[in-house]
Amino acid sequence: MKRIAILGSTGSIGSQALDICRRHPEEYRVVALTARGSREKLFEQVREFRPEMAGLTEGIRREEIPEDLQFCRWMSGKEALHAAAAETEADQVLVSIVGIAGLQSVMDALGAGRQVLLANKEALVTGGHLVMDLAERMGKPLLPVDSEHSAIFQCLEAAGPNRPEKILLTASGGPFRTWEKERMAKATREEALKHPNWSMGAKITIDSASMFNKGLEIMEARWLFDMPDDRIQVVVHPESVIHSAIQFADGAVLAQLGVPDMRVPIGYAMSYPRRMTTGTAAPDLFALGRLTFEEPDEDKFPALRMARECLRAGGAACTVFNGANEAAVVAFLKGEITFGQIAERVDAALNRLAGLKADTLEEIMEADRLARMTY
Ligand code: NAD
Ligand code: MG
Repeated sequence: MKRIAILGSTGSIGSQALDICRRHPEEYRVVALTARGSREKLFEQVREFRPEMAGLTEGIRREEIPEDLQFCRWMSGKEALHAAAAETEADQVLVSIVGIAGLQSVMDALGAGRQVLLANKEALVTGGHLVMDLAERMGKPLLPVDSEHSAIFQCLEAAGPNRPEKILLTASGGPFRTWEKERMAKATREEALKHPNWSMGAKITIDSASMFNKGLEIMEARWLFDMPDDRIQVVVHPESVIHSAIQFADGAVLAQLGVPDMRVPIGYAMSYPRRMTTGTAAPDLFALGRLTFEEPDEDKFPALRMARECLRAGGAACTVFNGANEAAVVAFLKGEITFGQIAERVDAALNRLAGLKADTLEEIMEADRLARMTY
């Protein structure tokens, strides 16, 4: 029986992880659940999974907790995340909250000797050096949940002692893949939220449309697999069946295939090194017929070029890229800026905030704050 804590349980990744727990009640015991503000959904989850601890980062008062849910220890604010990550006796901590808030939680969980299942890519984007270093010192390598990184991880497992020469990071290309740059710049909120293949939270769906998500994933891969950015090739693959691949010196390429359903990578991280049923069927290759590939258009999607420049610049550049983008996406979703302005704002923030340091958690949080202020 594995004891699992889920940070961000009411979200897209969190609820799918609970779906897997529901299918395997003899394998998983849910010990902690947290959400930001969706209390009704969290109440339902606590009622069903009966964790020892539950928390809302936006806060909850004693009298607001339903009578039948008083059995569980309720917490508010940042302490809720800390308790779920480090105080409950979990074997596994799934970090599936959105944004830089994930960094502290990942550090807390690793510091307490937990196995981290990592959906929150922002933790590696902003504090990759700190996270990888702590994971190594604690002897607890991260298990990736992001579908591309899970695919690369699975291919590396199959590669044995052989180091790949190159990572082929696939991307769907998002809803604007075939649009002209000018039309894309004026895209509406509804158009940007319409992902062709994946159903995900709002922030990452907008990032998929702008390809900022792929920029963040280049950074994530750089840390997880210790691979320089010039050996990470983005491959646009509109069918989202190949979730990524690795290439070797002898010309061989290993790829991982599956339907676009996050329960596969979530389930693999949960059951690693075994595999278990996830409720997902394998892709029907005959129905698919063909798989296609394109080179990414870095003029239309400047996030890819900017991400590589940030990795080379080092310091807090990746943190600024992430923070300015988060703020710009919020502004876009509120109708304050156009879709095209997202990349412009991030570029401007990177220019204004060049040279900031990110050696410590404090410096990273400060760079993030400045990026949001000046985005
Ligand atoms: P989501 O918006 O659907 O859910 C986020 C969850 O975290 C919710 O429970 C929410 O209440 C909580 N939360 C949000 N912000 C928080 C904060 N600041 N502090 C504490 N709790 C907070 O998001 P999602 O799509 O499930 O994505 C979660 C993470 O996983 C992101 O980092 C995302 O990039 C990554 N990811 C998601 C997918 C996907 O398919 N959804 C795929 C790959 C990676
Ligand atoms: Mg991904």
